[in-house]
Amino acid sequence: MATAAVTPLKNWDRPSVEADILLSEIPMWMYNCMVEYIQYTYMSPMDLQRGMKGNALSDVLNLLLPNHCYFCGVSLSSGVCICTACSTSLEIIEGVVCARCGSPLPPETKPEGNGCSQCVELTFLFGRNVSLGIFEGFLRRLIHLYKFEGRRSLHRFFATSLLTHRRAYIDGADLIVPVPLSPVRYTERGFNQSYLFAKEVARKAHASFIGSALYRRGNAAPQSSVSSQHERVINLTDHFMVRAGITDSIEDRRILLIDDVLTTGVTASACARVLLEAGAHSVDVLTLARSLKAAGTLYLSANRPIMK
Ligand SMILES: [Zn+2]
Ligand SMILES: [Zn+2]
Repeated sequence: MATAAVTPLKNWDRPSVEADILLSEIPMWMYNCMVEYIQYTYMSPMDLQRGMKGNALSDVLNLLLPNHCYFCGVSLSSGVCICTACSTSLEIIEGVVCARCGSPLPPETKPEGNGCSQCVELTFLFGRNVSLGIFEGFLRRLIHLYKFEGRRSLHRFFATSLLTHRRAYIDGADLIVPVPLSPVRYTERGFNQSYLFAKEVARKAHASFIGSALYRRGNAAPQSSVSSQHERVINLTDHFMVRAGITDSIEDRRILLIDDVLTTGVTASACARVLLEAGAHSVDVLTLARSLKAAGTLYLSANRPIMK
């Protein structure tokens, strides 16, 4: 097995594996305080309050800054950002799905290993993708709120939803790894959206997690001048690296790579490639949403057609 190129950890790729090991040695209350601090350093007071679990400080904040549902405005207790009624708007992919890309398929379809109309022309270097829902409507709005409007406490809602609906898939992995952001994107956004909910999924599932297993050099989007999706994967691979010193943690592991949205699979494939080169047994992907071409007829729960 070829050895992946390695480069020392950069400070945007925090916390490090050493930090994770160190954190596992300290009392849970101290760990929780540190996690809250790291995750909410840049949050607004309203979002800070939403993200906190019930404690004296959150009770005080609740009095000063009443917590409301993001969507309907109903009053909520601290630590919750969407009311139960609004959360039912989240449409989960159920029934028959593509065995490669996770797209919902008509109920009479037999999923085939070589893909559906959404992915048959795409090259994937990971095993398969499973998504929570389609990148449309309510879920698309949630992801936008989370990534671009500062609603970071939504990471808990995403993690809870993934664990509720995709638990067996998560439990099939030995190690959870989030897709990293480029340094430029990290600086712009202030956080890695995949890291936050991947870590929460791993914590609640008691799964192994290495948040900084991968890092990304430069700021290369897939080059539009390169027409072939396969060539874009190869080009983008140069921008992902496996962190130095973690080969033992990756070798022969079934890795679950977590990201927010799967579109062409170029990014996930580039990550999978370097993980496999570093000795991973397999790499599968879990995403919040599957972005689809506006073609064909697709089905969500209750076999309701959602796109024609
Ligand atoms: Zn609501
Ligand atoms: Zn497919």
